[in-house]
Amino acid sequence: MFQIIRDLVFTPMCGRCARLGSRLCPECLSTLVPFARQDIPGVESAFAAHDYDGWVRDAVIALKESRRGSVPALAELLVQLARHLNLDSTVACIPIPSSPQKLLQRGFNPVRLVADEAARISPESIRVANLLGQAREIDDSVGLNPRERHANVQGAFEVLAPAPSVVALIDDVITTGATLGSAAKTLKAAGVQEVYALALCASRPKGLR
Ligand SMILES: [Zn+2]
Repeated sequence: MFQIIRDLVFTPMCGRCARLGSRLCPECLSTLVPFARQDIPGVESAFAAHDYDGWVRDAVIALKESRRGSVPALAELLVQLARHLNLDSTVACIPIPSSPQKLLQRGFNPVRLVADEAARISPESIRVANLLGQAREIDDSVGLNPRERHANVQGAFEVLAPAPSVVALIDDVITTGATLGSAAKTLKAAGVQEVYALALCASRPKGLR
């Protein structure tokens, strides 16, 4: 009996199709098509594991709503992306911070939760360095046009400790890229030379298919 419960508790389950045995089963992994965006000022390249749709979108939204069951599958997704890119632990991975208000509401930063779990699964490919903080509140960007989104996140971040010359930002969703661009600008003003970004999912800008 205890063994059965133990197996249920400790056997990982695929976050997409619920098959037992892994956090993302090989079949679901084979559906992943990582892609890069080069349209974000200040960011050398931003890599997304998945389009902003389907189960990844659902899982990201669930996590933002404090349902943490999607953390293992999203962490596995991040690990797969990092391995796909041959990322290793020499690169500091910086989660985009939550606003103090959101942090208080949720009690955790979804991006950091996923990044920490990914680093636990695969410390050889992901090393988390919490080098960014949020200097001020960011308004909800829903309904803002690209220029308003840009203004909304300008100067929103601060560097908390000396950063190495090459870093990778970690975020859950990339839409306009305004958040990553603002974070990259802040890091570069602090002496960082190359800023890359890894995201769980992203919308594709027009022309990128
Ligand atoms: Zn699956």
